[in-house]
Amino acid sequence: MKKISIIGSTGSIGRQSLDVVRSNTDKFKVTAISGNENIELLYEQTREFMPELVAIYSEKQALEFKKKIENDSSFKGVEIMTGLEGLNAVAADSDSSMVITAVVGMIGLVPTIEAIKKGKDIALSNKETMVAGGEIVSRLGARIIPVDSEHSAIFQCLNGEEMESVEKLILTASGGPFRGRTRKELLKVSKADALRHPNWEMGRKITIDSATLMNKGLEVIEARWLFGIDADRIDVIVHPQSIIHSMVEFKDKSVIAQMGNPDMRIPIQYALTYPQRKEGKGIESLDLLKAGRLTFEKPDCETFPCLKLAYEALRLGGTYAAALNAANEVLVEQFLNDMIGFYDIPHYIEKTLERHSSAKEPGIEDILAADTWAREFVKQQIAI
Ligand code: MG
Repeated sequence: MKKISIIGSTGSIGRQSLDVVRSNTDKFKVTAISGNENIELLYEQTREFMPELVAIYSEKQALEFKKKIENDSSFKGVEIMTGLEGLNAVAADSDSSMVITAVVGMIGLVPTIEAIKKGKDIALSNKETMVAGGEIVSRLGARIIPVDSEHSAIFQCLNGEEMESVEKLILTASGGPFRGRTRKELLKVSKADALRHPNWEMGRKITIDSATLMNKGLEVIEARWLFGIDADRIDVIVHPQSIIHSMVEFKDKSVIAQMGNPDMRIPIQYALTYPQRKEGKGIESLDLLKAGRLTFEKPDCETFPCLKLAYEALRLGGTYAAALNAANEVLVEQFLNDMIGFYDIPHYIEKTLERHSSAKEPGIEDILAADTWAREFVKQQIAI
């Protein structure tokens, strides 16, 4: 029985992780979960999986949760914690051997580092951990098994290989809902258009990131730190069918690709069972005849400048990626609030990178400071 804890259990990856656990109750036990907004779902999850610890970020939400369970004796053994302390406890203190970092945003960085320090395996889904803190986290020497479909694909392609044999990594991108559109067509695009992703069911933040191609940019930065490979040896190719989840080209010019239906439960389960593979219960087989033609295109960095900006931040090093990520988080939120337009996102990220100055060999405090600075800078720029 493998004991796991999940930070961000009510989000898209958190829910699908619990789906995997539900289909494999003989293999996994959930010891701790955390959530914030969706108290109703967190309550249902607590009742079903009976973790020892539940963390709720906001005090107010935690009070509401406590009210729901206080008169029910079946919840008697469940401890409730709040704030960052609660998240850290779910990640680091419960007796799990693996933590799924499914929470979205910079809030995931510190709990992930705490878990690594306690020697836990990380099933990594929180992008910001590697985007903002990649250099530090890779120095900690953690065992990280990526959950994101692209990094899981590369991780699988590299299984049993040596990094010296690798020529380059090829990350595939679906191209998002606006693939093939021109800049002019996208000037007036709405959030509803941007939220309509063709292939993947995901949260709102990452769906907008897919529409701007920032999602792929963040994944390039993650790949750099996860696999220890320079930016110029990471390519991005648009593959609209999302059947090939990424590839590795080796020195001998052999290319290995990992394929499957676009179903996040596949990489989640792989991270949980690694190095073994178990029956994918309820997951559909890939039918290549049904999938038909697989096509590939060059990403359009003129229409989608965010991808280029992410490469730039990665090459600049230091805390530039942290600043890019923070600026993007604020801008996506404002786009979702109908406060700014689609192209304001790359515009203000570019400004942020221009104005940012990075510490040399940044520590965790420098990263958090860069994050705070970039958020304030962007808010000032867009006057909110
Ligand atoms: Mg992905």
